[in-house]
Formats: sequence, structure tokens, C-alpha cells
Amino acid sequence: DKCTLCAKCADFCRYNAIAVISDRLLFFEQLCHGCGGCKLVCQAGAIGETEHHVGVIEKGGKPDLPLYHGMLDIGQPFGVPIIRDLKSLVNNHGTVIFDSPPGTACPAVEAMRDADYCILVTEPTPFGLHDLKLTVDVVRELDIPFGVVINRDGIGDDRVEKYCSEESIALLAKIPNDIRIARLYSKGVPIVEGLPVFQQLFMEIFERAREAV
Ligand code: SF4
Ligand code: SF4
Repeated sequence: DKCTLCAKCADFCRYNAIAVISDRLLFFEQLCHGCGGCKLVCQAGAIGETEHHVGVIEKGGKPDLPLYHGMLDIGQPFGVPIIRDLKSLVNNHGTVIFDSPPGTACPAVEAMRDADYCILVTEPTPFGLHDLKLTVDVVRELDIPFGVVINRDGIGDDRVEKYCSEESIALLAKIPNDIRIARLYSKGVPIVEGLPVFQQLFMEIFERAREAV
């Protein structure tokens, strides 16, 4: 009732979740990222917020190695709120490793935000290099120290390595393209348990990240 149809909220929303058409305001709930910006710009006080169930956070793992994971409800397109809640839940529990969604969209940015260090995992392919460059831009914008791990080393070329060298980016490790890793992965067995030879490599990645913080 308070809405004056000024359309400031629609102009503000980067996700096109609001449209003002003629004498009506339309809200497309599925497009909303829950940033709250429309409420801030609405001078009429016509916008409120409500709780919205988007998923659950589950806890598992081992007593000395708890594992939390967020699971979106089927049909929920945006994971940012659940990632935000997950981070607030575990942030003070010593060393925390977040497995970020891939890419540079909002969920990945939310996962990286406030991190002490980012380990960017890529593959030595043109596609991997393309995405790596985008992600490097984001972590630099967020001002987070970072390094690169090349996964499935051997399947492509050396352009990722050259890029890291040219950009003075720390190359933390190269994980070989090894069919045994894929087999373990398909069975849900951690690499360091199924192939203890990799323990040293992962410890080195961790130590280099810790030294850089
Ligand atoms: S909800 Fe607020 S900002 Fe949006 S059109 Fe109405 S009055 Fe304007
Ligand atoms: S909360 Fe953010 S994303 Fe959702 S409608 Fe408002 S401005 Fe758009």
C-alpha cells in the first residue's frame, strides 16, 4: 500500500527481480539474491523482508575433523544465503577450509570473501586458463593472497604455468592426471587415504598457504 511506483527498487536491482509496469510492481522471487538493496533505496518504506527457507546445513565428518555442508532445496537457484550462514557457523573453529563453488558468480565470491588465503584449483587447458584469469581478477579485487594448484596435470599444455609465471602468481602444486585418483573419488575415498604418497603434497600446499597468510 505504501508503494508509490517510483521504480527506484527496480532500477537498483541488478538481478531484474523487480519490475514496475504501469500501475503494478512485479516481484520475481526466484531471481532475488536477498541482498536487501531494494529495501535500502525504497524511501516509502514499502519493502519488507521475510524468512525464506532455501536449504539446510548438515554436519558430519570425524570428531577431530568436522565437516559441514550446505544443501539447497530442489529448485533453489542461489546458494549465497546458505554459504553465508555456513560461514558464520564455522568461522571461529581454528583452521577452516571452504570448498568454494567453481567460477566467479556470487556463490563463489561469497565463499571467498574474508578468506585469509585462496587456493585456486585449475586444469591445464584453455578452458581452465580462461576461468583462472577471471578468478584471479576477483581475488585481486577482494585483496586476498592466493596461489594456484594445477589439477590433472598432463592433460593439456603449459599455458597455465606460463600465465602464473608472467603474473608472479605462486604455483603451489601440480596434481597429476592419475586414474587411481579418479577411482578413489568415485568411491568417496580421500586421496590421502587411498594414496598416502599424496599426503606430503597436500601438506606442502597447506604449509605454503599458511606461510603466505
Ligand atoms: S517498492 Fe519502494 S522503491 Fe519500489 S517502486 Fe515502490 S516505492 Fe518505489
Ligand atoms: S533483495 Fe536485492 S536481489 Fe532481491 S529484489 Fe531486492 S535488490 Fe533485487
